[in-house]
Amino acid sequence: MSDLDQLYQQVILDHSRRRTGEGLESAGSRHTAENHQYNPTCGDEINVRVSLDEAGDRVESLTWEGDGCSISMASASVLSEMAPGMSMGEFATTVDQFREMLRSRGQIESDEESLGDAAAFAGVSKFVARVKCAMLAWVAAEEAAKEAAL
Ligand code: ZN
Repeated sequence: MSDLDQLYQQVILDHSRRRTGEGLESAGSRHTAENHQYNPTCGDEINVRVSLDEAGDRVESLTWEGDGCSISMASASVLSEMAPGMSMGEFATTVDQFREMLRSRGQIESDEESLGDAAAFAGVSKFVARVKCAMLAWVAAEEAAKEAAL
């Protein structure tokens, strides 16, 4: 295992323990929505709640509740740390980038500058069965954000 792989494993492990954003925050804004996703392959389950600002164009908070493997829980924690403060455009771009990296089967190098801790999931893309684990919270957040913006 390379040093980078080891570092990335550590980031995932830390986040799966820290679980930033765990516990659904009560809705402050009228632009709040929740989405539930289930990954039958692994048994991961997650509820993500996204609140946007009053204008509906910036992520104010992203909280979640879930049960699953360390990859799915860590990726929810990372997302919860990254998303608040992002404009809807930035958020959509980040989710797209993360998805692209995960679907690349190890072909796309992780872009730490734009993905931050989420770049640690680059190695997951080599394991097709785990891609859904890493993507689960992000899909739920994407859906919740779309609904919250209405
Ligand atoms: Zn999983």
